Amino acid sequence: MTEPSTADLSAFELAAKISRREIKAVDAAHAYLNRVKSQDAKIHAFNEIYAEDLLAAAEMVDRSLDAGEKSGPLAGVPIALKDNLCTLKGHTTCSSKMLQNFQSPYDATVVTRLKAAGALVVGKTNLDEFAMGSSTENSAFGPTRNPWNPNCVPGGSSGGSAAAVAARMCAAALGSDTGGSIRQPAALCGIVGLKPTYGLVSRYGLVAFASSLDQIGPMTRDVRDAALFLNVIAGPDAKDSTSWPQTPPDYLRDIDRPPEKLRIGLPKEFFGEGLSPEVSKAIHKAVDFFRGHGAEIVEVSLPHTRYGIAAYYVIAPAEASSNLARYDGVHYGHRTAHAEDLIDLYAASRAEGFGPEVQRRIMLGTYALSSGYYDAYYLRAQKVRQLIKADFDHAFKACDVILSPTTPDVAFELGAKSGDPLAMYLCDVFTVTCNIAGIPGMSLPCGFSPSGLPIGMQLLGPLFSETVLLRLARFYETAHDWHRRKPGDDV
Ligand code: GLN
Repeated sequence: MTEPSTADLSAFELAAKISRREIKAVDAAHAYLNRVKSQDAKIHAFNEIYAEDLLAAAEMVDRSLDAGEKSGPLAGVPIALKDNLCTLKGHTTCSSKMLQNFQSPYDATVVTRLKAAGALVVGKTNLDEFAMGSSTENSAFGPTRNPWNPNCVPGGSSGGSAAAVAARMCAAALGSDTGGSIRQPAALCGIVGLKPTYGLVSRYGLVAFASSLDQIGPMTRDVRDAALFLNVIAGPDAKDSTSWPQTPPDYLRDIDRPPEKLRIGLPKEFFGEGLSPEVSKAIHKAVDFFRGHGAEIVEVSLPHTRYGIAAYYVIAPAEASSNLARYDGVHYGHRTAHAEDLIDLYAASRAEGFGPEVQRRIMLGTYALSSGYYDAYYLRAQKVRQLIKADFDHAFKACDVILSPTTPDVAFELGAKSGDPLAMYLCDVFTVTCNIAGIPGMSLPCGFSPSGLPIGMQLLGPLFSETVLLRLARFYETAHDWHRRKPGDDV
């Protein structure tokens, strides 16, 4: 067997080799920059690349390791950050004209923690504007393409991060997930994506979309890397009042210990109409695998799933309409050059700065919160939220983990859904309820379609069950090679 090239190593393997001095951090940085050079003109995963800083930081890592200094668990590992995570370096644009020139005066907590662990930032990745979308086509800077087939979307909104990891332009990346934006692009790009329990990872420095749903999480080559990155980013943070105050466990410790006898629930509502036969087939094969290894497979019901999209598309836009009020050309963001008076300045700045999907969400949210409609929409959606939470509580009495498809179908062609917001919203049908309930969810590769596009399986668990999800996913992954496949460079 030939040695895998540096950019093909997992983050875990790369970190080990760098710390053992088998690979120099500078060489790893060059390997990834070469990948960016050869791939990103086609894929457009990045909004900004920090080549010089990356190389300078890598040299520092080498120097400090050569001097025998103690290093962090990610020393020398090149990573990418979704461009809605605040970084002192460069711009934080949210792929919006509104924030095209915005420079954050601070690093997000996750960024601080990654840097302290020794990770090096390759650049900031493209997203649907303000993380609103499922294809990364809503970026003001042009779409990202799927490395498995550049005519297809990478999913969204963390499509840039997913494509960068899949195309080996970074060892791992961070994304954010409000209704599926880590798991859905992970599925469509054939990588692992984890949305942690709400509160497990600090949101300080994540540009807010819908604050009661947003979570930051890792997007990685394999499950062990997801555990490694979660170890670094999870844990209490005084700067985020919603962060969970307890110290999280070591997610790597038992990652290779197969889980004890588990009951895996299949929610019947996730296997009905609209699920593509090729996705269904791959998921059922995975179910057979678990059954063959002693898991008890039970059918569960999440009866309010069918209200998930409706509730999400009231709650998320409502919160967004409030969070995005600050971008008015005065407090923050693009300011129009042509305004007659103050009101006109606000209106024109917002009309020029926000793209069509963001404007649609602001209008939906403002409407849902307006007096006279609040009870009919927002309040009702909050009630549905409780029912969805109760569905999961009930289901987790009958099973330990829920297994489902991550998405109804594989990646679609660019433009296929961009004229039809509802069709785009339905991409999230299997992912939104997890955010609504606040529980953890992850997607991992479980096959390919006949046309060669990746398929993802979703695992959901009760609050703070990341350890179980990761161990179960790792058990599956070590018996399969889906995560080792990589897209061709010339597709
Ligand atoms: N696709 C969903 C939306 O457009 C979810 C986005 C996300 O998780 N950030 O809102």
